[in-house]
Amino acid sequence: MTEPNLGGSTALGPTAFTADDYAHRMARATAAATSAGLDGVVVTPGPDLVWLTGYTPTAVTERLTMLVLAPGTEPALLVPALERGDAATAVAPPPSTCGPGATGRTRTRWPPACSGGGRRFGVSDSTWAMHVLGLQEAVPDLRLAALTRCLPMLRAVKDDAELDRLARAGAAADAAYEEIVGAPFAGRKESEVAADLDALLRRFGHEQVDFTLVASGPDGADPHHEAGERVIEHGDVVVLDFGGLLSGYGSDTTRTVVVGEPTEEVREVHEVVRRAQQAGVEAVRPGATCQDVDRAARTVIADAGYGEKFIHRTGHGIGVTTHEPPYMVEGEEQPLVPGMCFSVEPGIYLQGRFGVRIEDIVAVGPDGLGRRLNNTDRALRVVG
Ligand code: ZN
Ligand code: ZN
Ligand code: ZN
Repeated sequence: MTEPNLGGSTALGPTAFTADDYAHRMARATAAATSAGLDGVVVTPGPDLVWLTGYTPTAVTERLTMLVLAPGTEPALLVPALERGDAATAVAPPPSTCGPGATGRTRTRWPPACSGGGRRFGVSDSTWAMHVLGLQEAVPDLRLAALTRCLPMLRAVKDDAELDRLARAGAAADAAYEEIVGAPFAGRKESEVAADLDALLRRFGHEQVDFTLVASGPDGADPHHEAGERVIEHGDVVVLDFGGLLSGYGSDTTRTVVVGEPTEEVREVHEVVRRAQQAGVEAVRPGATCQDVDRAARTVIADAGYGEKFIHRTGHGIGVTTHEPPYMVEGEEQPLVPGMCFSVEPGIYLQGRFGVRIEDIVAVGPDGLGRRLNNTDRALRVVG
């Protein structure tokens, strides 16, 4: 990578990734596959294909689209005949067609260099079962393994241009939060506040909103409660968890607010979560592993007597999707590496009453320390 401005950004926004960037990623993926003992990877439409080529077909259908990467051969992008024109303008490897569309035609197009001898390829997690089965039928000695099982860290380490996009997404999510806390909560449905959050994320630059959870009162005790018809009342604790994609990269933030003055218990629970989240971020240091982040946050909550009430892992990676490896969870011994980017989001969930969660996206810096990409106040915010 010699171009000085490669994948950089301007005042107007990030410059587009270039064919060189994608070629570099495809080479990285091929090398990673080799070191994982694979003969290559098969990538179908979804986040892996976006990351490797920038290509999103207009429709994902029963017609197979696949990128085949293997050492010693050029990347091969096979597309349905009717997508060939679009693909040729959208993507770096010159596409060739799979035939008129049937998966069975894969036989004739599977790169000859990739055949024979019981080869083992990683395949995108989201590949339709009919295509996996069709491939196995067409190339009988081909063995396939789920890509996140064999190459979980393929997209985990972000380069500077990716980190720049993630930081922009985080800043936009922060701006959305600062606006939403100025809006009235009491007397409105969760779904109405969620719609406002969606509009704010878009206003601050997101092209896609993946989720706007608004969980008030007892709904907050369910970590994945989305937003329903419940009318938010005075005294409610409200968990706001929202994110999506900006310039193709994700945001994912959680703050917990209270409608009117909080009780002593709400203050205490919130403070425990705030300290746990801080401990999780501070656990990001050279030599630390993913599970160390989980342990650091969990210890604070357990020591405060709420260990049973923290019912999920501490975090997940983020990049071209809002949930991906690495996972900050007990048993994940993957070392943290500069360029990794993930959430730190401990919570306490009191059944039938309320929940508290605080989430920031954290990037591992060149010094191995964590740098938050969300910087709005984590204190318990009183809203109207
Ligand atoms: Zn989640
Ligand atoms: Zn979240
Ligand atoms: Zn998250």
